[in-house]
Amino acid sequence: MLKYKDLIEVLKNAGYPKFRAEQVFQAVYKKGGNDYENISTLPGELKEFLKENVPVYSFGVGNRMVSKIDGTQKVLFELCDGKKVEAVLMRYSDKTGKRNTVCVSSQVGCALKCAFCATGKLGFSRDLTAEEIADQVLYFDHILKAEEERVTNVVYMGMGEPFLNYDKVMKSVRILNDEKCLNIAARGITVSTSGVIEGIEKFSEENLQVNLAVSLHVPTQDGRAEIMPIARANSLDKLMESLDDYVFRTNRRVSYEYVLLKGVNDGVEDARDLAELLQGRLCHVNLIQYNETGLPFKKSGKSEGEKFLEILEGSGVPVSLRISRGQDIFGACGQLAGKENAG
Ligand code: SAH
Ligand code: SF4
Repeated sequence: MLKYKDLIEVLKNAGYPKFRAEQVFQAVYKKGGNDYENISTLPGELKEFLKENVPVYSFGVGNRMVSKIDGTQKVLFELCDGKKVEAVLMRYSDKTGKRNTVCVSSQVGCALKCAFCATGKLGFSRDLTAEEIADQVLYFDHILKAEEERVTNVVYMGMGEPFLNYDKVMKSVRILNDEKCLNIAARGITVSTSGVIEGIEKFSEENLQVNLAVSLHVPTQDGRAEIMPIARANSLDKLMESLDDYVFRTNRRVSYEYVLLKGVNDGVEDARDLAELLQGRLCHVNLIQYNETGLPFKKSGKSEGEKFLEILEGSGVPVSLRISRGQDIFGACGQLAGKENAG
């Protein structure tokens, strides 16, 4: 959806007053309208004008799949240049209430080529615009509003490296957070980086309550550089230094993502190294089950995962084991490859 001030401008040029823009925004962002035809407050000729000139979404909506296991939904968006990206909706419900989390893509493909990741395998194609990122969330919000629910959380963990598309990503965060738009709490938004230090430094200066997640995966420099090429120019020492500085400036804890890869990073030694690295740091570790993607990595066994968790817990490092969602629709972490027929 266009930005508010751009919509006002487009409507003004076509001879419509500002309050029409307000009505459109109200309908699209607050009432869940994705079809101008159904906005009863608008005159017929304005509906026609909008249909032709102001698409609700900045992309076409392709195939949507719903997981039979857990209700996770994955959708393929077709961008105006024919490229494709995916986003995922995960729905949680427990004693504390309901959460609807959208996992958005920030780039088409990714340049960073982590050895275990399906998106990395694709290579980099282009950055998404702020509108293309925010519209992924708007799309799912519309689906949820039809059931009188809404998107409560957004994670930048789809395709792409958010900090290599820094400005557009931050712009999209501001759109999502804007009270005129979806009004999603900054605390409900998490940006995940594979460790782009320059981005972390900039992010430390943003005056926002947005969460930071770092894909650590291996607790030593050499081992990390082996499967995550980004670690060569962004060494573990410097990465930790930039994260300490982030915590110092923002007083916010960092989430560390750690995908358990069989025989690569899931041993007792690895767990001890990780515990030592994070000792005394304001952090939370998310242990993630690896989703196999046809790349030469296997997920760790249950007992390795439990042992790993136990060692971290025993060292006083806050940790949880994340349950993987949407595996049957290839919507789980690292399985997004923008293919129509995936799954
Ligand atoms: N580029 C960013 C954000 C997108 S990836 C980053 O790397 O942080 C989101 C998370 O999924 C990252 O932690 C990534 O390492 C992880 N991931 C990649 N491939 C995976 C796979 N096959 N199974 C599980 N997690 C995977
Ligand atoms: Fe890119 Fe993240 Fe995949 Fe690495 S894990 S290739 S940084 S999307």
